Amino acid sequence: MIDSHAHLDDEAFDEDRDEVINGLYENGIDFIVNIGCDLKSSEKCFELSEIYENIYATVGVHPHDAKTYDDDLEKRLIELAGGKKIVAIGEIGLDYFYDNSPRNVQKEIFKRQLALAGKLKKNVVIHSREASQDTFDILKDAHEKYDFTAVIHCYSQSVEMLKEYLKMGDYISLGGAVTFKNSKNPKEVAKVVPLERLLLETDCPYMTPVPFRGKRNEPKYVNLVAEYIAKLRDMTKEDLVKITDSNTKRFYNIS
Ligand SMILES: [Zn+2]
Repeated sequence: MIDSHAHLDDEAFDEDRDEVINGLYENGIDFIVNIGCDLKSSEKCFELSEIYENIYATVGVHPHDAKTYDDDLEKRLIELAGGKKIVAIGEIGLDYFYDNSPRNVQKEIFKRQLALAGKLKKNVVIHSREASQDTFDILKDAHEKYDFTAVIHCYSQSVEMLKEYLKMGDYISLGGAVTFKNSKNPKEVAKVVPLERLLLETDCPYMTPVPFRGKRNEPKYVNLVAEYIAKLRDMTKEDLVKITDSNTKRFYNIS
């Protein structure tokens, strides 16, 4: 199966990155999409996608690092986005939980990268934390101006909000949080989201699903996310994954 959102460039994999990547297939993972967060990780994403057959990647600047975004950085992103396995712009968005960049800067850079995605004809990967309404408003406005589809990764917003995203043609992605005891929204959403709009992810090395919570997350644990959601929906894991894998390929335009 596919892990649609991973961060194997993260320093948590510095000791054994090669081993993890080369072991993906025997752990049941066909390929992963490695997601960029800042310029450095976007460079690394590009590099990994060039070296390894089973890695596709995205480039973009996370809201945490919105304050680092300038014209030179954007120029470099455009170059990297030209890589033949760079399949989207992301992760971009808003994070009002950490507020690592000022909110007005986060909003400005989010809009700017949506415009960039429109120009480059790429889909976008969205990070949104404690910023539900602003994320939605900015995305809605961008949908009116540019032609793209978004995936709201690690979706933790309400079912009501989900309906609004679905109306705009967007996707959501669920990961380890769905297995956490105290996570109400992801479980409710997992039960009702139309299956053709759902992607599965790990967000590794973060968000490790139960029963490995607290340990480093890895792409192979996307299997546990699939198992959990399949149970919630009263279907087999195989049937679920067949649909979510084909969604991932469609969303990222991977054949
Ligand atoms: Zn992520």
